[in-house]
Amino acid sequence: MARPDELTFAPLGGVGEIGMNLSIYGIGNRHQRSWLAVDLGVSFGDEEHLPGIDLIMPDVRFLEKERNNLMGLVLTHAHEDHFGAIIDLWPKLKCPIYATQFSAALFEAKCAAERNPPKIPVTVVPSGGRVHLGPFNVEFIPVAHSIPESHALAIHTSAGTVLHTGDWKIDPTPIIGLPTDERRLRELGDAGVLALIGDSTNAVRDGRSPSETEVAATITKLVKAAKGRVAVTTFASNVARLKAVADAAKVAGREIVVVGRAMERVVQVARECGYLNGVQNFRGADLYGHFPPDKVLALCTGSQGEPRAALARIADESHPEITLTRGDRVVFSSRTIPGNEKPVNRIINGLVRQGIEVFTDRNELVHVSGHPRRAELEDMYRWVRPQIAIPVHGEALHLHEHAELARRLGVKQVIECQDGDLIRLAPGRAGIIDEVPSARMYKDGRVLVEAEARTVPERRRLAFAGVVSVALVVTAQGELAADPELRLTGIPERDADGEPMAEIAYAAVVDTFKSLPRPHRRDPGAVAESLGRAVRSTLAAHWDKKPVCHVHVLTV
Ligand SMILES: [Zn+2]
Ligand SMILES: [Zn+2]
Repeated sequence: MARPDELTFAPLGGVGEIGMNLSIYGIGNRHQRSWLAVDLGVSFGDEEHLPGIDLIMPDVRFLEKERNNLMGLVLTHAHEDHFGAIIDLWPKLKCPIYATQFSAALFEAKCAAERNPPKIPVTVVPSGGRVHLGPFNVEFIPVAHSIPESHALAIHTSAGTVLHTGDWKIDPTPIIGLPTDERRLRELGDAGVLALIGDSTNAVRDGRSPSETEVAATITKLVKAAKGRVAVTTFASNVARLKAVADAAKVAGREIVVVGRAMERVVQVARECGYLNGVQNFRGADLYGHFPPDKVLALCTGSQGEPRAALARIADESHPEITLTRGDRVVFSSRTIPGNEKPVNRIINGLVRQGIEVFTDRNELVHVSGHPRRAELEDMYRWVRPQIAIPVHGEALHLHEHAELARRLGVKQVIECQDGDLIRLAPGRAGIIDEVPSARMYKDGRVLVEAEARTVPERRRLAFAGVVSVALVVTAQGELAADPELRLTGIPERDADGEPMAEIAYAAVVDTFKSLPRPHRRDPGAVAESLGRAVRSTLAAHWDKKPVCHVHVLTV
């Protein structure tokens, strides 16, 4: 008798880090599996550790190899950490993509904004609807989050049902979109759920998240009390928040001016999808100056301190249209994502220095997270009662706290895993059975590079200690045909005693060359190596740092 099909799960991104989510589910045996991919997101590089790298994404070489067995890519929602890598990576996979209306529309708008707009087809599935993909039957269950149309996926298979929660929270009054579908989740629990693969982001936080409605009330209070201009910054994709700000402006008799392309794009998509029905029309940034200070509110991008976004330019007074002065108000209706503290604080300090009042989630309830705290996680486990729990979407601490909570709630099998682990969910006892290739890719300008490639470490070394370039021409007799040329970049002019570094390096080149035995002087490789070593160690003796050194030797 043939063995029953195995149901497996492997995270290829998003476990051990927040960002670049990619999960795959397999049905079959070790010789042949059909795959389902869930989400394909990015995370963001930080300037300090990854100079010049904007985006980090999962390596999809495994799925690329398995492309013929890949039934499709299903999107839980349209946050960048869940769909931001599709434009770059889909050409390697070319699989069908399934998403609900808002996610599909936002993706289309994102593609249209590219330099060469790619054509990537997305099939629209209704909220609450299902798609059949080979052995997988995927059901989209509405959950509250911080963007319209976030979905948990109930993945029904012959080996059991898995609930892939996606990003979710419980908010009975989410302002926009459907609340988390408790009734359907309970039904699934009654019918029997094999495994819950779920969001760990806020598993370290006790209690419940406040509602979007409470945030809206605070924003209204702050806007009403303002005497001068008001600017509010938030995540562009948080349409409920945009509506809350619009409603606050209406109450206070202010026009809304939208500043920043990402925000304009979301507003347009949200209007197309009917999420801003009844909300007043917004104005373009060009009209900002036409309104009296107490009759305008600027809704801006840049809550994470992005240097090219609207808020950073307003704060350093370089925005062509939007200006603020003493007594005006800026509301950060956002959380600073770890890693972005420095640029955000730079903006806040810039504003405070100009006498502008700044409100953040540190002093007012102007933001709530879109992820479940512990009491919400407990509700979910009580509704769904899974046999297996696998924490994902978190750093090590979040994952571990989530695992402990699941154990405490009586989940029989709790599996703590890492990116690249292949986990058997059924039949038999669940556990890690294999590894699948997983890694990171960096988006460097328009090019994708492997994280292990030399590019970034080299760049860090250049940033740390600069570079010396040496060029010399050696004659047939093994003499220098001319004075060597040296160029020092990113190196101090003088050492601690005031001696010019260029002269120190020059002397090291000439002395070392002369010390080489004549037969060696005609060997460019050997000369380059000796001179490079000499320059580096001589400068290190004067400076305590070793620069990169490039030596170019020509023989005539
Ligand atoms: Zn999300
Ligand atoms: Zn997420």
